[in-house]
Amino acid sequence: MSEEKNKKRIAIFGSTGSIGTQTLDVIAANPDKFSAEVLTAQNNAELLIEQALAFDPHVVVIGDEKKYLQVKNALAATSIKVFTGVAALEEVASMDIYDMMLAAIVGYAGLRPTLKALDAGKALALANKETLVVAGDIVMQKALENRVPVIPVDSEHSAIFQCLVGETRNRIEKVILTASGGPFIGRKPNYLVNVKREHALQHPNWSMGAKITIDSATLMNKGLEMIEAKWLFNLRPEQVQVVIHPQSIIHSMVQFEDGSIKAQMGLPDMKLPIQYAMGFPHRIKNDYPRLDFRKLPVLNFEEPDIKTFRNLALAIEALNKGGNLPCILNAANEIAVYAFLKNRINFLDMTAVIEKTMEKLPFIQHPTLEEYFESDGEARNFAADIIKL
Ligand code: NAD
Ligand code: MG
Repeated sequence: MSEEKNKKRIAIFGSTGSIGTQTLDVIAANPDKFSAEVLTAQNNAELLIEQALAFDPHVVVIGDEKKYLQVKNALAATSIKVFTGVAALEEVASMDIYDMMLAAIVGYAGLRPTLKALDAGKALALANKETLVVAGDIVMQKALENRVPVIPVDSEHSAIFQCLVGETRNRIEKVILTASGGPFIGRKPNYLVNVKREHALQHPNWSMGAKITIDSATLMNKGLEMIEAKWLFNLRPEQVQVVIHPQSIIHSMVQFEDGSIKAQMGLPDMKLPIQYAMGFPHRIKNDYPRLDFRKLPVLNFEEPDIKTFRNLALAIEALNKGGNLPCILNAANEIAVYAFLKNRINFLDMTAVIEKTMEKLPFIQHPTLEEYFESDGEARNFAADIIKL
C-alpha cells in the first residue's frame, strides 16, 4: 500500500477554533499519518482560506452564507470544493471522503453533523461535549449500531479512556473528574456578581474558545463533563465525582472495584488528547515539554463549592433526573453564556436563567431525537425571553 493510503483522513468540523487549530497543528506535525480532508468554519473566512491553502482538503464549509463568495474566490485556483449554510455541514459529514470526524464545533450546532458522521460509519474523535449532553443516549446508540468508536478529546475523558485501556474485564466503581476551578476559585457570590466578561475570559491553565472558558469560570463545564462521562463510559450518575485540582496535572482518574485508582497525568496541553484520539490505539511520539516531578509544585485537591457555583448543582440535577433535562440545561446555558459575553446579564444571572428554564419546560423521561430538537428550541426561546434578547 502506498503511504497515501495509510493516512487517516480527518474531517475537522470547527477547524478555526481552539481545538480545530490545534488539530491542524497535530496533522502538520504528522503528515505521514494524517491528512485534513474537510475543514469547516462558521464566520472566520480568512483563517479558513489560509488553512485550506495550507492543507489542501477535499471540501471546506463556511457556515455564514455571506462569506461564501469570499471563500469561493480565494480558492478558485484550487480543486477544493466550497459549500455554505447549515445543511452543508450534514451533507459533508455524510460524504465518503474522510475516515474520522474531529468534532470541534462548539455547542448544540455540532449535534446534527455528528449524527450524520455516525450514520455514515465514521470514527468519531469528540471534543464537542454538548453533543453528548443534549442527546447522549441517541449518539452512543448510533455509534454502537454502526460499530464506530467514540474517542473523547476532552482532556478529562481522554484521561479516563486512557486509564481504561486493558481493563475491559474490570468494572469501574467511580470516575473522578478533576476541575481546575477556573479563575474564581474560592470566591463568593458578592464577588461573582461584579465579575466582568474580560475577567471571566482569563483561564489560569488553558487557552480555549470563549464559551467553554465562561463555562469553566461558572463550573458549568464540569457539570457538562459529568453528563458527558455518564454517556461515554456507561455510568450511573452517582459513579461520577468531581474534585477541584487547581494545577491541572492529573487530568482525571478511575477507581476500580478493588479500590485501586488509576490517574492519567501530564502538562495541560490539548494537543495531547487530540493526538491520542487521532492516533488511537497508538501513541504518537512528540517533543512537547515534559512534566518533571522534581520541579512539580504541590498538587491540591478539594471539594467543589456547589453552593456558590450553582451551575454545577443544576448540572448535577440534570444528570440525576436525565431525560430531556440536560438538553434544556445546555440550551439555556448557551443562551445565558452568549448574553453574558455581550454584557447583557451579570455572572450570577446566568444561573437564574438556566434554573428558571429548567423549572418551566416540560420534562420528558425518554425523548426521541425530534423531542430533543424541540426541547432545545423551546428552552432557547424561553431563556431568551427571560433575558429579553
Ligand atoms: P471555539 O469557539 O474556539 O471554536 C468553535 C469552532 O466551531 C469554530 O471553528 C467555529 O467556526 C465553529 N462554530 C461555532 N459556531 C458554529 C455554528 N453555529 N455552526 C457551525 N460551526 C460553528 O471553541 P473550542 O474551544 O475549540 O471548543 C470546541 C468544542 O470543544 C466545544 O464543545 C468545547 O466544549 C470542546 N472542548 C474544547 C476544549 C479547548 O481546550 N478549547 C477542551 C475540551 C473540550
Ligand atoms: Mg475538559
